[in-house]
Order: sequence, then structure tokens, then C-alpha cells
Amino acid sequence: MITLPVRNDQSLVLFTDLDGTLIDHHTYSYRRSEQALKELEIHHVPLVFCSSKTYSEQVYLQQQMSVDAPFIIENGSALVIPKGYFPSEILPVLPRYIDTEKHEVFALAHTDTSALHQIIKRFPAVRGFSDVSDAELSLHTGLHGEALLRARDRWFTETLVETPEAKNTPEFLNALAVSGFSTSQGGRFLTIQSASTNKGVAVRHLMSIFRQTTSSPVFAAIGDSPNDLPMLNCADIAFQVRRADGNYAQIELDGLRRTSGTGPAGFEEAVQSLLHSRLK
Ligand SMILES: [Mg+2]
Repeated sequence: MITLPVRNDQSLVLFTDLDGTLIDHHTYSYRRSEQALKELEIHHVPLVFCSSKTYSEQVYLQQQMSVDAPFIIENGSALVIPKGYFPSEILPVLPRYIDTEKHEVFALAHTDTSALHQIIKRFPAVRGFSDVSDAELSLHTGLHGEALLRARDRWFTETLVETPEAKNTPEFLNALAVSGFSTSQGGRFLTIQSASTNKGVAVRHLMSIFRQTTSSPVFAAIGDSPNDLPMLNCADIAFQVRRADGNYAQIELDGLRRTSGTGPAGFEEAVQSLLHSRLK
């Protein structure tokens, strides 16, 4: 077991990626993470989802997993904070995108995605989730029915289906850059998002709020893909989860701890390391 620099009098806050980390890359199952989720709840460790997934997808997963915490949607495009979770006077000074019954949503990304969709239209070989039929999107994602609708419910970003040649051309990347967009590689898909934000920008906003509500917080983060690097980079303790194919994505970071387990098994391994170090 790795010994980690977390004292018993310090409070842990855990940020985690979802696909390929908390949930299985192929099946989207979180069964292998359930024990770790229970232990985090017992130890009152806030578990903050930080994923390219949409608001709808993450609300659904939180309900399934009985997780109640802020979360970060669409690769750092917005912070979602449950109403009443933090005192109102310390909420971020950011544009409010929407208020739902349960959440306040603070935008970090461009809220007008029309420019993004116009660029994608100019490059016929590049196709986003919104350009393909339900049947084709099911083939690419393995999602069906309600889960497919939740994946389509994007507010700030567009995720591309497999277009390996077209999406890396200088013409396409330049067109994105001049309009303030960039690409971010997840475990499965490339996402187009505002260049002004990423998972790390969003995590830093939440860290500054947790610092005002939590005594001596220690921030840990777990991820598996290059788009997790900005999140891992700002955590006190960072874990890279092994991928389903047995390899590790190319992520270089001083002090990065790599799990031997893959996907949710790696997530559990990281959580055990964190909690074990506190209980000693
Ligand atoms: Mg991932």
C-alpha cells in the first residue's frame, strides 16, 4: 500500500473522471466501484465528478450512485452546485447558465455554440454527435434510448464521432482556434470545447470554494486520459488509472501515482490508498 501525505486532521476532497475511471470504459458499469463509493460516503469525502459527460448524464449517475456533491460538466465548461451545498455568499462570481430545481449552473465556457456548429459544418468529413442518427450514435457509443438522449444533451461542447483523418487537419484546428475553441482527447472521443477552460480551470474554482468551507482540505484527483491532465495537475495527490487495454495514456506529471488495476478497479485502488493513509 502506498503511503500518502494525508493526516487524520485533514479533510479529503476527491475529484474524479467518469469514463474509464469510475465507470467501465466498455460497459459503463460502476459495479466494481461500489465498495469504494460506500467508503467515501462513510468517511464524508465529497466526490466531485469531473467529466466530458453532460449535465443530464451526470445527474443520472449521481442518483444511481447516491452521490450528492458539486460536479463539473463537459470538460470544465460549467460548475454545477447543488442548491444549499455552499453558503450563497461564497458561490463563484461567474455567469449563471441556468438554475434547475436542484442545481445552480455556473458557466466557464462560451455559452453560444452556434460558431462551433458552423465550423463543423464547413468540414463535411468531421461529424459531431448532433450530426449522426440515433442508430449510428448507438454504434459508436454503445448507448441506447434514454442514455443516448442524455449523451446528446450538450450545452457547451460537441463530441466528435470517429473521423480520425479529418479532425486532425491544420485547417480544421485553425478554424477552431480563431473562434476560441480547442480539442480535448478523452478515452474514447475527441471533444471540441471553449479554449478558455478545461477540467483544471473548473477544479480550481471548486478548490477555492472548498478551502472556505473545509478545514485543511487535501485535494485528490483520479483520471485516465490526456484530458484529465489539467485536473490531475492541480490536485495535491494525483492518480492515473490504467486503461482497459492494460496500458497507460501518455500523461507526464511529477508525483503521479499509477494504479495497477484498470478502470473502476484502479479507482477503488486509489480510494483505498487515500483512506488507508488517513486511518493509520
Ligand atoms: Mg476517462
